[in-house]
Formats: sequence, C-alpha cells, structure tokens
Amino acid sequence: MALQFPENVNECVYFTRRALVPKGKIVAWALRKQCPKCKKGLMAKPKKTSPTYDCPSCGYAEEKKAHEAGLAVSVQYVCPACGKSGETTTPYQRKSWNGVKAYVFSCLACGEKIGITKKLKEPKKKGAPVPDEDDDDE
Ligand SMILES: [Zn+2]
Ligand SMILES: [Zn+2]
Repeated sequence: MALQFPENVNECVYFTRRALVPKGKIVAWALRKQCPKCKKGLMAKPKKTSPTYDCPSCGYAEEKKAHEAGLAVSVQYVCPACGKSGETTTPYQRKSWNGVKAYVFSCLACGEKIGITKKLKEPKKKGAPVPDEDDDDE
C-alpha cells in the first residue's frame, strides 16, 4: 500500500524530516483524522496543552488518548543499517528506544529497529534517566 504523502504540513499532527548519522534518512508524518461526525473538519488540538482534539467545523471533540490511539505515523526511510529504502507505518505512540522516547519502526529489509526521537535528542547511554514525555512536538 502506497503511503499518502501530505500535501501540506497543516494536514498533519506530526511531520518530521531527519538525516541520520552516519547514514540513513527518515521522513515521517501522521495525518490528521477527519471528523467522524461531520466528515468535513480535520481534528486538531486547539492548543498544544488541550486534553481533546476538536473538529473545527462542528466542534465535535475526542479525548486526546482515544484520538491518538487511532492515529498512525507513516514513514519513508533509508535504513541506517542496511541502506535499503522502504515505507512503513507505526502507531502514533512513543516507545522507549535506546533510553529515549521515540516512534519506533522496523526496517522491512533487515529488521533493524529505527527510532524517531524528538528533535535534537540523541539516544542516551544505558542507565541515563529517560526524559518525561510531553506534547511539545515540532
Ligand atoms: Zn466535525
Ligand atoms: Zn535495514
């Protein structure tokens, strides 16, 4: 299944482009969900700290956790381990990856686990404290 690339970053709850060191690339995004009530609006958090995602057209609101459970992160990548490129999806939910929170997916070619960390955060050494998760996405 071909991934649906966003035409506009405004269609996304999450969008990032990363160049991995020393090699590899990631483009990842999560498309905003269409309002299940009116089928017109794209659900979004009115503010970063809002506990709900709201429809801008009809005002329908969904609780943040429930809404995010229905979202997916689409990934186009060049694997840092084997160099092959591929496309995949992963749940819109950060997991622990090398001591930091990241969206984690596996390379379809070699099975390497690849994490999309928050910006400017390198994986920490084992035993380092894990930073708190917040909603301050790019
Ligand atoms: Zn609506
Ligand atoms: Zn690979």
